[in-house]
Amino acid sequence: MLGPVILAASRSDRMRRLISAAPVTKQVVDRFIPGETVDDIVPVVEDLTSRGLELTMDVVGEDITSPEQAAAARDAYLRLIDRIKDLELGPRVEMSVKLSMFGQALPGGHELALANVRPVVEAAAAIGTTVTLDAEDHTTLDSMFAIHEELRKDFPQTGCVIQAYLFRTEADARRLAASGSRVRLVKGAYKEPAEVAYQNKHEIDKAYVRILRTLMEGDGYPMVGSHDPRLISIAQELARTAGRKLDEYEFQMLFGIRGEEHLRLAAEGHRMRVYTAYGTDWYGYFMRRLAEKPANLRFFLRSMISR
Ligand code: FAD
Repeated sequence: MLGPVILAASRSDRMRRLISAAPVTKQVVDRFIPGETVDDIVPVVEDLTSRGLELTMDVVGEDITSPEQAAAARDAYLRLIDRIKDLELGPRVEMSVKLSMFGQALPGGHELALANVRPVVEAAAAIGTTVTLDAEDHTTLDSMFAIHEELRKDFPQTGCVIQAYLFRTEADARRLAASGSRVRLVKGAYKEPAEVAYQNKHEIDKAYVRILRTLMEGDGYPMVGSHDPRLISIAQELARTAGRKLDEYEFQMLFGIRGEEHLRLAAEGHRMRVYTAYGTDWYGYFMRRLAEKPANLRFFLRSMISR
């Protein structure tokens, strides 16, 4: 019940100001977003990779309001790529980007986002790695898929994300699987209307399995983005049935969520990639993590009250 309320708050400027200013917020935020600067995050990259994990890096931010902010977002990724170049980790550390942060919602936003993301994809390719386009709310997806297709002409390894809660996703999955794309499948984290998305957890889980089967049986590279233990074991089974080897798909989870499971899957020989967000504009990302699990919200509220 609380999830939709928190997701609505994630889009409210008033709530953003209130929550960002609360003194305890930072401690709770740190669990999910382990740093604000490139200097903070490099030791985290070194630590996780030394433990056999791979990473996808997200410089937090979305819903920007000017082309200058979009260019700043692009530059933040370029700085990160330049900084991790010397670690020589190649595809073990890739990038995740939100096109809204690259200007997608501004006038002329489709072209602007493409122009801003392209140099990031080029810089990533130059150090032997890739970029995945995150999925945001359903109104942004036609543009995201068109940008994905455009980037893949020169950089076929560019990935994208699909969301099991959307009715459209089964068709998107068939198209992407046939085209041999890298695809991360997630349940979906935004507040979506009943006209476009399943609202019921059971329906979403069933759709997730159907879509995952399509990806596993297709020609692409499936990235299983979930912390759900049931879906993880179903994914292993689907991969086996489809005859995929361990390096022909991967698991992905968020930093700060089920960390022991990251290590367990890596120890079993799976490729396990940790989605690691950092930066100062963490509000939207943080609120979606609170919405996913009521216990996070209770913990957050308790820490405010007990101060
Ligand atoms: P759930 O059924 O929500 O959770 C299963 C179990 O995982 C829970 O019982 C709990 O133990 C644990 N868990 C899950 N979430 C939390 C949490 N916040 N805090 C503590 N424990 C938790 N969504 C998008 O819409 N677009 C994207 O581009 C996108 N990228 C993602 C990338 C990765 C690598 C991952 C893992 C998720 C991404 N998501 C994205 C979020 C996703 O849509 C879900 O909201 C999120 O993963 C929770 O769903 P779940 O599959 O983990 O299953």
